[in-house]
Amino acid sequence: MTGKKVDLHLHSNHSDGIWSPAEVVTKAAEAELAAIALTDHDTVSGVAEALAEGGRAGIDVVPGIEISCLGDGYEVHLLGLFVDHTNPGLLDYTRWYHEERRNRARRILERLAELGMPLDQDALFAEVGDGSLGRPHIAEFLVRQGYVNSFEEAFDLYLGDGKPAYVPKRKLHPREAIELVHGAGGLAIAAHPGMDLTDEDLLDLVSLGLDGVETIHPKHTPEQVAHYEEFARKHGLLVSGGSDCHGRGDEILLGTLDVPYRVYVELREAHARLRAGVETLSRSR
Ligand code: AMP
Ligand code: FE
Ligand code: FE
Ligand code: ZN
Repeated sequence: MTGKKVDLHLHSNHSDGIWSPAEVVTKAAEAELAAIALTDHDTVSGVAEALAEGGRAGIDVVPGIEISCLGDGYEVHLLGLFVDHTNPGLLDYTRWYHEERRNRARRILERLAELGMPLDQDALFAEVGDGSLGRPHIAEFLVRQGYVNSFEEAFDLYLGDGKPAYVPKRKLHPREAIELVHGAGGLAIAAHPGMDLTDEDLLDLVSLGLDGVETIHPKHTPEQVAHYEEFARKHGLLVSGGSDCHGRGDEILLGTLDVPYRVYVELREAHARLRAGVETLSRSR
């Protein structure tokens, strides 16, 4: 028998994934994973559903989030694992982020109107509902209105970075994100460092209180996995791993990655120690 496997980086339709949180859990159970983390972008709204389904399916579900941050000269996605998904500070952030995306969409629509392409804001907002409103929605709208011929053209001509209707997103500084995750009782892990970060950036994050690095990720080469394992050892960091699966047809990664069960156990134990430490601290005050 091969050892039990886990997947600690997964998305649902509460951010940019396809499956509902319950479906993510069901698929993970079918893939015989022993534990998963739901880590939707900038929201924890799917966690309660995933936890409930995890109880039914007999699979451990770690409450998580993936926070988009802008550091000093680098962008980073920070995973919060074992967060309390009812933590008021965390919920404040997710509400702020949600509203921020809507404000940004309003500004993009203003630019498009100035460029001669008025769009119906109410229709757009109604269509997206509680979802995470982003440029892809606006691109699809531009195609449907006949202002562009394709989704790609919408980005190439107007919405892509630096194009005439581009409006940047405001993001948390990793210092704030790490504080937020710690405040919610979680562990702060740098997601897919091989995609975004230099080792110098990672060291900056360590100085801000980072707890761990995601070593196993589909975009990491075997050399990068080994490099980050070594980096973690050297700097006393935890390690994590996950498929970052979004459920899209040609790249269904859930269950295909070799993240051993002990990775999950070590994170869980570190989290328990941290919580015990915090409790001891607050009792001694
Ligand atoms: P947002 O979070 O609103 O900034 O949108 C980011 C998403 O837009 C990305 O996840 C991509 O799906 C899509 N996107 C960004 N740039 C491009 C591009 N040049 N061409 C096609 N899609 C893009
Ligand atoms: Fe994503
Ligand atoms: Fe990411
Ligand atoms: Zn992700």
